[in-house]
Amino acid sequence: MLHGARHGWVEVVAGVMFSGKSEELIRRVRRALIAGRRVQLFKSHLDDRYGGQFRISSHDGRQIDAEPVSNSVQLAEKVRPETQVVAIDEAQFMDDGICEVVDALADAGMRVIVAGTDMDFRGEPFGPMGLLLARAERIDKLNAICVVCGDPATRNQRLIDGKPAPAEGPTIQVGGAESYEARCRGCHVVPKRDRAQGELLLRRATEGWEGV
Ligand code: ADP
Ligand code: ZN
Repeated sequence: MLHGARHGWVEVVAGVMFSGKSEELIRRVRRALIAGRRVQLFKSHLDDRYGGQFRISSHDGRQIDAEPVSNSVQLAEKVRPETQVVAIDEAQFMDDGICEVVDALADAGMRVIVAGTDMDFRGEPFGPMGLLLARAERIDKLNAICVVCGDPATRNQRLIDGKPAPAEGPTIQVGGAESYEARCRGCHVVPKRDRAQGELLLRRATEGWEGV
């Protein structure tokens, strides 16, 4: 992809949780290391899945550690001018400024690989992901497997004490009592939103479309 390009570009690996975005990011970074490229890897400080450690190694023994960053300005400051490939995991936790940063890096000739969950637990665009998807030269949207029915999963189901979490909860909830499942559109449940949509349909039925 984009072989021989003299300029940089942005590629986004999007999808639901458990869809293999990190696996794909690691695969691409490993291949960039095999190609002898100078790579820097970043992740949001909010992601502690790896206990603060996220290291990618290639078979020839080269390895890089993910540098935690808390915002796009910090990320921009950490990129070294000689870097050729910049990889960012969990980009949904970044601020909107990340869009200008990745554009600037690509303009400066770097290959930028961004992985992130594109939808929040309500099924709405998550953080800057929608904007990043619009700017990317290449997009890959991965699916997981719906834990309810086995179809391809595209949604993050937030559960609190095993029950679907209401839409009004915070978008980012780190270290809380909630858990997440990958689900398909049909099995995804967001109580408040589902009720609001039901009410809308009811009003349309009783008042006609003009009344809505
Ligand atoms: P992501 O970064 O998208 O959250 P990861 O790369 O961390 O995903 O994990 C993907 C792995 O998660 C899969 O290879 C699989 O082994 C595992 N997994 C757990 N639950 C599911 C699921 N419901 N659907 C697909 N893979 C799952
Ligand atoms: Zn399903």
